[in-house]
Formats: sequence, structure tokens, C-alpha cells
Amino acid sequence: MSKSNGEQRVQRILILGGTGEARRLARVLVADGHEVTSALAGRTQAPIRPEGALRIGGFGGAEGLADWIADHGITLLIDATHPFAARISANAVEAAKRSGVRLIRLERPAWTRPDGGKWIKVTNMEDAAAALPSGARALLTIGRQEVAAFFGRGDCRFVTRVIEAPETAPEEWTVIAERGPFTVEGEMALLQRHGITHVVSKNAGGDQARAKIDAAAALGVPVVMIGRPALPEAETADSVEGVLARINAV
Ligand code: NAP
Repeated sequence: MSKSNGEQRVQRILILGGTGEARRLARVLVADGHEVTSALAGRTQAPIRPEGALRIGGFGGAEGLADWIADHGITLLIDATHPFAARISANAVEAAKRSGVRLIRLERPAWTRPDGGKWIKVTNMEDAAAALPSGARALLTIGRQEVAAFFGRGDCRFVTRVIEAPETAPEEWTVIAERGPFTVEGEMALLQRHGITHVVSKNAGGDQARAKIDAAAALGVPVVMIGRPALPEAETADSVEGVLARINAV
């Protein structure tokens, strides 16, 4: 299905997005002459638009994704979703199998504990909520969808930072609606301003959200670090450049 474009083959690419890397990939691949569509789940009202075509909303599981791939003559599927978006990543693996299309997953390396950092490692949101000591004043940087796991901790105080405010949050919570990237200095000021005793974070990896981890380490504030969900095996690169190298190598 690919057609020749002088030196390289033009691919019809579907990028499963919702991350800064996905937008970077779209920009480079469009500039390279590929036909690129980015897919977003539609979680935020005002997403940053990637270059190329944009499709918003779910596909209807792996089967729906495989159908969409076939209907649109997709020749390459790139999963550049957030490391905690486990369902769509599993659907991508299944849909690639069903449709016979190559899948490359961009999987940024997880963060490792910085020198001096104190981490309390947990594997899910419920354990993260349980890990906070009574009286903690926690900064939640876990997005909007899973804050309910902390609603039962009336003995703690919460500041939650999200791109868009959650529909439901206890009245006494402080909600900060802000989009990164953030600086270490800015994050240190935030932690100090709110008297934060614990940061709660997913181990997202990458540079965009890392500053809070370094700021917490610098101030001796412990981080409740939620480990990544397991994903089914796939061809994987750990950076935008790695994905591009794999595409260009074939
Ligand atoms: P998820 O739990 O893995 O996926 C739930 C369902 O949402 C999927 O089954 C799929 O619906 C739909 N979906 C997810 N990502 C999609 C995409 N890029 N394009 C089209 N449909 C998508 O996903 P999630 O954790 O809610 O994340 C949703 C989006 O937010 C992703 O794009 C992800 O990159 C971004 N994001 C997530 C996080 C996080 O912490 N989870 C953080 C930052 C950004 P169907 O089955 O109907 O196709």
C-alpha cells in the first residue's frame, strides 16, 4: 500500500497519541512526507493539536481499531500513548495482529530515584492512597481520572494538579489546573507554598513531568511512586528518535 516517494516509502501512519512525544513524532513524520493521522481519546476539552490529520474518540476496542486500520489503508501503527494508558496499548497489539500492520511502541524509560530522593513504591492507586500517613498534605499529580481513590482519606489534605479540573473533588481540596512542562525551581516553590509533605506520582518517565521528582528530592519530600502497568510485548523504541530510526531502517 505504500507508494514510493523518491528515496523513501510514503507510509500511511496512525499515531495513538495524547503525549508530547506523539506530537513530536507527528510533526517529523508529516515533514518527511508521510500521511499521518493522530488519534486522541478525547479526555481533554482543548487538546494541543498535532500536525497532520486528527481523529478524536475511542475506536471500540481492538476490533474497532483493526477495522479502522483496514478501512483507512494504514501501513504503520505507532503507539505513543502514555505509559499508564494500558488498555489502548493492549488494543494496539491485538489490532496490529488482526490487521497484519506493523506496530511500533514508543516506551520512554521509567524514572529512577534521584540521589537523596525518598520513594515509597506502590503498584496501584489504592495502595498509593493507603501509603500516605495520617495528617499528610499531599500533592497529587496523577491526572483527573483516578483521584477518587483518595476521597476516603479525609485525614489527609490534598492539592491536585491536573490539566482540566475533575468534575468531582471534595470541596476542601485545592485544585490547580495547569499544563506542563514545569521547572525544578517552580516545583520547589509549589511544594513549599502548599506545605507539601508527600508527592504522589505515576512513574511516567520523560522530561516533561520530571521536575517534581527532582524538586521533591531536593526538599527531602517523599514521593509515593506508582509503578507502571505491564503491557503485552511489542516492537519498542525508547524515544522519538528511536521510533524514527526504526521506521527509516526499513
Ligand atoms: P486507556 O485506559 O488505555 O484507554 C481506555 C480507552 O480509551 C481505550 O480502550 C480507547 O477506547 C480509548 N483511547 C485511549 N487512548 C486513545 C487514543 N490515543 N486514541 C483513541 N482512543 C483512545 O487510556 P487512558 O489511560 O484513559 O488515556 C487516554 C489518553 O490520555 C491516551 O491518549 C493517553 O496517551 C493520554 N494520557 C494518559 C495518561 C494516564 O495517566 N493514563 C496521562 C497523560 C496522557 P476504545 O477501546 O473505544 O478504542
